Amino acid sequence: MPIALIIHGGAWNIPDEQVDAHVAGCRAALAQGWGVLAAGGSAIDACEAAVRLLEDDPTFDAGTGSVLTSAGVVELDAAIMDGSTLHYGAVANVRCLRNPITLARHVLVGPATFLAGEGAEQFAAAQGLPLCANSDLIVPRERLLWEHWKASQATPEGESHHKSEAQAVGGHDTVGAIALDQTGRLAVANSTGGTPFKHPGRIGDTPLIGCGLYADGRVGGAVCTGWGEAITRVALARRAVELLERGLPPQSAAEIAIRTLGRAVPGGNGGCIILNPQGRIGLAWNTRRMAYAYQSERTEAVWGC
Ligand code: ASP
Repeated sequence: MPIALIIHGGAWNIPDEQVDAHVAGCRAALAQGWGVLAAGGSAIDACEAAVRLLEDDPTFDAGTGSVLTSAGVVELDAAIMDGSTLHYGAVANVRCLRNPITLARHVLVGPATFLAGEGAEQFAAAQGLPLCANSDLIVPRERLLWEHWKASQATPEGESHHKSEAQAVGGHDTVGAIALDQTGRLAVANSTGGTPFKHPGRIGDTPLIGCGLYADGRVGGAVCTGWGEAITRVALARRAVELLERGLPPQSAAEIAIRTLGRAVPGGNGGCIILNPQGRIGLAWNTRRMAYAYQSERTEAVWGC
């Protein structure tokens, strides 16, 4: 089977001076995940490895470097789904973990499928995952942006995503990956700190199955990024996979899904990456930029922002 991997590093008005860092991060994650797949590793392992690297890169709004809530702390959401079994693991409102994607991976094994807040952290500790202080996840750039939002008395949640898209203030560099391994298994993963100045406890699309991500090994997988409230309203990832079910090629499915997002929700903005079991890739966004990188046995590595 042809191996393939696609990474996204967020869709928004990424400022010119941040483009190189976004591309470098996506390329590094691609190399990391590709190494796993090329060595015969599973799609789930490749997704986890790629997303972990992005969570550790402070450029992105995931793990270290995430945006802050209106209360000035980091709250992380992540999910991973195995398209060959339809099993998934999701976590939300996690405050004390550098790599929530690894916690989601542990949740995937069961017995629960989605854990949030304190219970998720208790589960992490019971699984032997290293916990950290919330302040360990906060970088000076995000503390400064939080002060900006606080001074402007911004409205939290989606509103802030919307405003920052126009003003290029604050990041939405959620990260995600889709992998296809040598045995034909397909997996998807997504991880985020959410939207800048979000209400404490707010959960966007990223960890919600069918919204921020979905994988069905028979037809393909989709991972989304952007304004979470809008993406959730249209269940964008499931919608994109449904387009694959109807026989559309991945690129057309990605374009139609993003067009639907923009039409269905006023100001609905974001991006979507897709991979099918034949290793074909699709990607589309209606924001100014989306950071991405991909590679398959059909193409050399490609990246952009
Ligand atoms: N979709 C994420 C959220 O709303 C943000 C992003 O993709 O950048 O939480």
